[in-house]
Amino acid sequence: MSKRDYYEVLGAAKDASQQDLKKAYRRLAMKYHPDRNPDDEEALAKFKEAKEAYEVLSDEQKRAAYDQFGHAGVNGQGAGGFGGGGAGAGGFGDIFGDIFGDIFGGGGGGRRGPSRGADLRYTLELSLEQAVRGCEEKIRVPTWESCGTCHGSGAKEGSQPVTCSTCGGAGQVRMQQGFFTVQQACPTCKGEGQIIEDPCGSCGGQGRVQNTKTLSVKIPAGVDTGDRIRLAGEGEAGMHGAPAGDLYVQVAVREHDIFQRDGTNLYCEVPISFVDATLGGELDVPTLSGKVKLKVPAETQTGRMFRLRGKGVKSVRGGATGDLLCKVVVETPVKLSSEQKDLLRKFQESLEGGGDRHNPRKTSWFEGVKRFFDAK
Ligand SMILES: [Zn+2]
Ligand SMILES: [Zn+2]
Repeated sequence: MSKRDYYEVLGAAKDASQQDLKKAYRRLAMKYHPDRNPDDEEALAKFKEAKEAYEVLSDEQKRAAYDQFGHAGVNGQGAGGFGGGGAGAGGFGDIFGDIFGDIFGGGGGGRRGPSRGADLRYTLELSLEQAVRGCEEKIRVPTWESCGTCHGSGAKEGSQPVTCSTCGGAGQVRMQQGFFTVQQACPTCKGEGQIIEDPCGSCGGQGRVQNTKTLSVKIPAGVDTGDRIRLAGEGEAGMHGAPAGDLYVQVAVREHDIFQRDGTNLYCEVPISFVDATLGGELDVPTLSGKVKLKVPAETQTGRMFRLRGKGVKSVRGGATGDLLCKVVVETPVKLSSEQKDLLRKFQESLEGGGDRHNPRKTSWFEGVKRFFDAK
């Protein structure tokens, strides 16, 4: 089978930005995620296809090779990138690199027993500062826990579950239907093979009780919205002593008053008076690690962007620290006294003596407008 074009897979344009690609991938990953489409081969294939496409296109080098040579340029890259990576990393508070990569890595993958506890999802809201610096947060999660009274067996203290007499402990029974013998789950023990004659009073024989637990979650520095941290075995307890599920802590970063984040870069707007913009000067600019001075040259126009290298964010996935991009916005003065207005009028008169020199942009704009109307 020939491979589909990666851009087509993600439904993205050839010149799509990394942000657009990420958005497209997230949308597909959410739609076709195996968690949401259990036992759906087609969805799984779509999920893998999107993952492979995103793995290539999100890497600028691989993307360039793909743009130039197509699939041949990235042969062996990205394909079959499941599993492996996350294996063994199931410890408390580990972060996994990929958006969903953890699902197939390590203990989370593979076949699940029918009575394994469910995985839990918890959305943890963080401030930008917490996400950038890392933190330790206490969270309270509702969960099923193994019953402390019967230690998960479901049987009353001093008693034991007994082997089901209907199926002899097999959990399955054979039924004669005409010429055929069919096997089905034992109706007496519901497939468990054991019967609890004397159920535990605390859990009603389930072997687990509902509870709320407080967990401490270590958030590594540099996480962003959509990152997930897996706490292995902190999900729901299984039935009758089966293993617990995992808890996935999903990070959601709140909007910040001053900064907007785009990957490892931070962005902010800095107002400046028109006098400072004209004469040049030094501005106090906020960063996540305190104020810094920004030298603004004379004749700075509104909207000009200044880059403060290394004042952005260091990603949890490593790599270089991003930059802080400051957009200078010239503020028109308000609430002027009549004296100040007079000064401005005098100032304006002085400009008119200079012809086009002081407002070259305005002059060329008006010339453009004039040409536009003359051409009609
Ligand atoms: Zn119990
Ligand atoms: Zn039975």
